[in-house]
Amino acid sequence: VFIMKLLVILLFSGLMTGCRGNSSYSLPPKLLLVSFDGFRADYLQNYEFPHLQNFIKEGVLVEHVKNVFITKTFPNHYSIVTGLYEESHGIVANSMYDAVTKKHFSDSNDKDPFWWNEAVPIWVTNQLQENRSSAAAMWPGTDVLIHNTTPSYFMNYSISVSFEERVNNITTWLSNSNPPVTFATLYWEEPDASGHKYGPEDKENMRRVLKEIDDLIGYLVQKLKMLGLWENLNVIITSDHGMTQCSENRWINLDLCIDRSNYSLIDLSPVAAVLPKINITEVYEKLKNCSPHMNVYLKKDIPDRYYYQHNDRIQPIILVADEGWTIVLNKSSSKLGDHGYDNSLPSMHPFLAAHGPAFHKGYKYSTINIVDIYPMMCHILGLKPHPNNGTFSHTKCLLVDQWCINLPEAIGIVIGALLALTTLTCLIIIMQNRLSVPHPFSRLQLQEDDDDPLIDL
Ligand SMILES: [Zn+2]
Repeated sequence: VFIMKLLVILLFSGLMTGCRGNSSYSLPPKLLLVSFDGFRADYLQNYEFPHLQNFIKEGVLVEHVKNVFITKTFPNHYSIVTGLYEESHGIVANSMYDAVTKKHFSDSNDKDPFWWNEAVPIWVTNQLQENRSSAAAMWPGTDVLIHNTTPSYFMNYSISVSFEERVNNITTWLSNSNPPVTFATLYWEEPDASGHKYGPEDKENMRRVLKEIDDLIGYLVQKLKMLGLWENLNVIITSDHGMTQCSENRWINLDLCIDRSNYSLIDLSPVAAVLPKINITEVYEKLKNCSPHMNVYLKKDIPDRYYYQHNDRIQPIILVADEGWTIVLNKSSSKLGDHGYDNSLPSMHPFLAAHGPAFHKGYKYSTINIVDIYPMMCHILGLKPHPNNGTFSHTKCLLVDQWCINLPEAIGIVIGALLALTTLTCLIIIMQNRLSVPHPFSRLQLQEDDDDPLIDL
């Protein structure tokens, strides 16, 4: 009877919390997606971030996000908002060339929808929903007419617009728009720019830059609280890639191996995209043994794990430098930090932190894929995701409305169940022993009976 009562109480309390959960969702859920470019995952362990740590304390942290190859800015930002590998969304580098149309793409020439239309980013899907709109402050692609749609509110990209101005626009749009802005993005160029300039091992400069980033996060949170947006808004803070230390002692000079007239270089380092002007095999042979610190692949031989092969914008030959090595023409690099390398390198990984009604509080998780962010965002916003390479179940443990169980918890539950069973078995044995006590007692009575005549005597 007690167990029955307990079950009924549990069931009712579950229903009650379920109802309360639903009522807070009667307003359409809102999501702000923020990227601090080039925020390497382990900056979080190696530097102080008081504001970001407060954000995480009341939310969730994914310590490593495995991003997509090549680990560059435009490709990874597009993977976050589409859930696709680069070969599938078509933004395969920051510099591209299409041999059929003879079009060029670069970070300063990115407005042609041709490059973006192979996928549908989440702000377009959200924008097409009834009574909803999207807003963007400079996320790559948000100032382009993708599938004939831009966010209702967006800013044309300009590096000279301050973070504060971007935040002020986004928060204004999130507070007073009709139809309401339910999905918003915010992009900031640091710590990427400083990571390239100083290198991630320059502790003194990076400490200064990362403190500035933390102050910007503090500014964002304070502004959201001031405007009454904080409690109901879901906020994801993440990044596109990490950063690794480079050095002029680790240069791979292509000019020592092949004449420049033999090929066009579409993208340079650390993944060089080579379009041969002479026979492909001849170019491949010249490059193959150019350096022990670089892998040279014909397009058909690019490793499967990169998911970087099935797109016309991937050039016939690609060169992949080892971590920290730079591919140069003669002497052409002054970068002390770079990214773009193999996406299995921890130094290339960013992190993800999230806060809001959709997320648990104080939960840490080791790793997800960057393509898993898209199905999670669609779930939060109640959007039907386009086909994608992400896995929703990878992010279930971050979300309050999902049932998730991880290995330590599973082991705990099994041990708990075994302990409970053992205790129960012991109790049953003890009870049975107590019930079987009458036998010695009756023998005692018999003895007393035997003694009686002796006393009488
Ligand atoms: Zn970047």
